Amino acid sequence: MSSQQPPFTNANLFERAERVIPGGVNSPVRAFRAVGGTPRFIAKAQGAYLFDAEGKRYIDYIGSWGPMILGHGHPAVLDAVHAAVNEGLSYGAPTLREIELAEEILKLVPSMDQVRLVSSGTEAAMSALRLARGATGRSMIMKFEGCYHGHADALLVKAGSGLATLGHPTSAGVPADVVKHTLVLPYNDLAQLEAAFSLHGDQLACVMIEPICGNMNFVRGSLPFMQRLRELCTQHGALLVFDEVMTGFRVALGGAQSLYAKALPGFAPDISVFGKVIGGGMPLAAFGGRRDVMAQLAPLGPVYQAGTLSGNPVATACGLATLREIQRPGFFDRLAERTRSLTTGLLAHAHDAGIPMVGDSEGGMFGFFFTSTNTTSLPQNYTEVMATHKERFNRFFHAMLDQGIYLAPALYEAGFVSAAHSDEDLQQTLAAAEQSLRSLN
Ligand SMILES: *Cc1c(COP(=O)(O)O)cnc(C)c1O
Repeated sequence: MSSQQPPFTNANLFERAERVIPGGVNSPVRAFRAVGGTPRFIAKAQGAYLFDAEGKRYIDYIGSWGPMILGHGHPAVLDAVHAAVNEGLSYGAPTLREIELAEEILKLVPSMDQVRLVSSGTEAAMSALRLARGATGRSMIMKFEGCYHGHADALLVKAGSGLATLGHPTSAGVPADVVKHTLVLPYNDLAQLEAAFSLHGDQLACVMIEPICGNMNFVRGSLPFMQRLRELCTQHGALLVFDEVMTGFRVALGGAQSLYAKALPGFAPDISVFGKVIGGGMPLAAFGGRRDVMAQLAPLGPVYQAGTLSGNPVATACGLATLREIQRPGFFDRLAERTRSLTTGLLAHAHDAGIPMVGDSEGGMFGFFFTSTNTTSLPQNYTEVMATHKERFNRFFHAMLDQGIYLAPALYEAGFVSAAHSDEDLQQTLAAAEQSLRSLN
């Protein structure tokens, strides 16, 4: 079993971690800075549960920030990984399994003719950006405030001060020069979109967007916004890049783009970016698109992109097994139904407790917001998300954590349900929520 057993405590592990790792963590949000308190050090995970270093069990609604759609330790996935490990960890040469995974992805995402595998969402988004610039011969890009596309320099940008102005770096170490080609607009704002395109449309290499934005909790790109964005991109020769690192194989089998295509016949992005579920918990991500665009990539074309561990044999085994499991008949209907019942149950308890809350879900992804007034409308952009009740969220988060329910430790993060979450798990979660919400009054 695990080597981590009491007398380890989360507090002493955190202290020890802080000595050797900046902030004690290898990715900032894990440090609980937004909500305060001590991060839980996880010793193992099984099904819908995480177990911390103190042996406490949590029902997991983070799922490694999205990948664990089958729950932890799914037998088919573990078998595939174990078999792959026995055949070698990495070759630096092409394999059959990369072809199989590419074929599987392309079958599920008809907007793409070809796909390239990489190791992280950051790398996939950064590569998609370079590809879009290389393919169009243009430098300027557009993104939206609140959307996260990994931590590549050109994408770590917040909105400028006025309409269609260029953005400012959100991180030290990113020179203003590097983001001077990045335009940042408010999400779901048609008027600003029109204005930005009329000023800069013909200089734009691409527009990158999270179609359902999970990095500001849960905000859908509205249909009219997405439809107009597609039209403007086509009209001005800019590529539309869907960052589906979170939504891909998570909100639906075909990703968020399949939902827009259902509502807007013929709708398709030019380039798509995937990660998280696609690797099933191993470092794997991908970007792909139309054949003529992908042909710009080395070794066929002039856009350079490479990776020592790209298409890694163990990661591809894990991803392939995961993608096969989620294609079982009824998988997404069942997952969506469970996720919806969690969200509606949560909203019902909030209503009963007299706490204003709104929420939404799609497939296995959900979000909820503590609103300041009794409103039924969901936040539509970053400003509205940030105006929701942070202090209330933080108290709710800790009340839930104390009761063994592990939600994302920041109000601007989406939540995830897995196929391993049972009715009993959901009931237990809702019972804890009922109690937590009452304690907020
Ligand atoms: C997580 C995420 C990324 C970054 O992926 P990493 O694997 O963490 O580098 C990019 N885009 C979106 C939409 C994400 O949710």
